[in-house]
Amino acid sequence: MEDCLFCKIIAGEIPSNKVYEDALCYAFYDIAPQAPTHFLVVPKKHISGVSEICEENAAVVAHIFSVISKVTKELGLASYRVVSNCGEDAGQTVFHLHFHVLGGARLADGMC
Ligand code: 5GP
Ligand code: ZN
Repeated sequence: MEDCLFCKIIAGEIPSNKVYEDALCYAFYDIAPQAPTHFLVVPKKHISGVSEICEENAAVVAHIFSVISKVTKELGLASYRVVSNCGEDAGQTVFHLHFHVLGGARLADGMC
């Protein structure tokens, strides 16, 4: 999608530090990490956020979670948090579905 930061990252038009890639998704380190390990996993096909997940596109979300399970093991992360902000009031700043994966330290208690 035009003018979508993460679509440009997926296309290689904006550089990123890749963690993992396959036909369906792309994972890369967050530019402003909130934990010692902080990467994002995004579907290659543009979906604006959790609110746009539906029966027709939900399979990629299951795939992304299987990738998170695999990649965190490869990185040696035993504990981690997966977060997706949906909507401005929840802190979403990039409107291309993404899952934050945070770990590498004891994370703060609670949901926010
Ligand atoms: P959100 O705030 O939408 O939940 O998450 C967007 C995330 O994208 C933020 O954690 C932010 O640091 C990250 N981010 C924004 N711009 C870039 C960029 O150009 N490259 C990378 N690697 N991450 C970015
Ligand atoms: Zn996009």
